[in-house]
Amino acid sequence: MIDVTLESVSKRFARAGDTAAVDDVDITIAAGEFFTLLGPSGCGKTTTLRMVAGFYFPTSGRIRFGAEDVTRRPPNKRDTGMVFQNYALFPHMSVAQNVAYGLKIRKVGRADARRRVEEALGQVHLAGYGGRRIDQLSGGQQQRVALARALVIRPRTLLLDEPLSNLDAKLREETRTEIRRIQKESGTTAIYVTHDQAEAMAMSDRIAVMESGRVQQIGAPREIYHRPATAFVARFIGRSNVLSLPVTGGTDDSVTVGLPDGGETVVAAPVGHGLRAGETALVSVRPEHIGLTSTTEPGALPGRVTELEFTGMATNLIVDVAGESVQVAAIDVPAGLAVGDQVGLRLTRERMWVVRP
Ligand code: ADP
Ligand code: MG
Repeated sequence: MIDVTLESVSKRFARAGDTAAVDDVDITIAAGEFFTLLGPSGCGKTTTLRMVAGFYFPTSGRIRFGAEDVTRRPPNKRDTGMVFQNYALFPHMSVAQNVAYGLKIRKVGRADARRRVEEALGQVHLAGYGGRRIDQLSGGQQQRVALARALVIRPRTLLLDEPLSNLDAKLREETRTEIRRIQKESGTTAIYVTHDQAEAMAMSDRIAVMESGRVQQIGAPREIYHRPATAFVARFIGRSNVLSLPVTGGTDDSVTVGLPDGGETVVAAPVGHGLRAGETALVSVRPEHIGLTSTTEPGALPGRVTELEFTGMATNLIVDVAGESVQVAAIDVPAGLAVGDQVGLRLTRERMWVVRP
């Protein structure tokens, strides 16, 4: 168990011109933490993970495992266990031989290796599968073999790059719970890469949301969901409306904004937001924090339904409010509500939050 620190880490690829694949990233991951790098394709997650693993060296910045500087140390001298999207198992070897691979390289004795392989297979609930061939296993089982192979060397850090992408939806959900359990039981510091925000939220102690090589926000899942730092984070984590509203006043941790119907409301804002009257605030409000009501309810924003989609758990609507399209997710909608109808929107004021551009 060890903490991992990235200090001002950047990576530029020679042929990719001037833009940095990873741009001045600062992250401190606590010992035993399940930490996720989350962001859209191409934002620099894999490059960041590969620098922690030692497959790439940073162009600038430092990486530490505990107090040790590992920035320029080769991968085989770092004690990291890596799990890939495509499993990268050896198809012609048995399960046990695959898992034992890292021990063989480390010249662990036969008896000791056999015991540790059984122990690792037990950890991933595959005890007794050692003699099977890889192609006799399902995708989910193969992924657990890959996990056992990473864990068997008792790595100081466990690095996982989109390990569930090749599994179907149901198995993906089961396996994410499994990975989280195994990580907590082993106590290994884990860095997990995914573009799937629901997966990140379900598994992680903390998440770094990345965009274009930069970290936009680091925080616990609830913090990121309820207090997104930027408009990008608000829209990428779950869904969100980001309304541009005129500022009429404020305090250190709130702003007063005007609403499209001429009313005003006070919205919580990050301390030191610096917004002044006359400027425009970006206010995030999630679709599930907007209630449907009648147009005559005092304080309700009047609008017109332009889209309506029943998904089972909720009904998703787009409501036009003074030219702005507002997303609403409602558990209950009035019977017969249809596109073109006038509705009132009740914003849950205490769930509204000011974000940065
Ligand atoms: P992600 O894992 O978030 O999808 P990557 O870290 O793979 O993103 O890629 C980040 C950026 O760096 C992309 O623009 C990608 O094209 C570029 N990149 C990644 N690896 C290389 C490489 N070996 N050579 C050149 N460019 C690369
Ligand atoms: Mg990637």
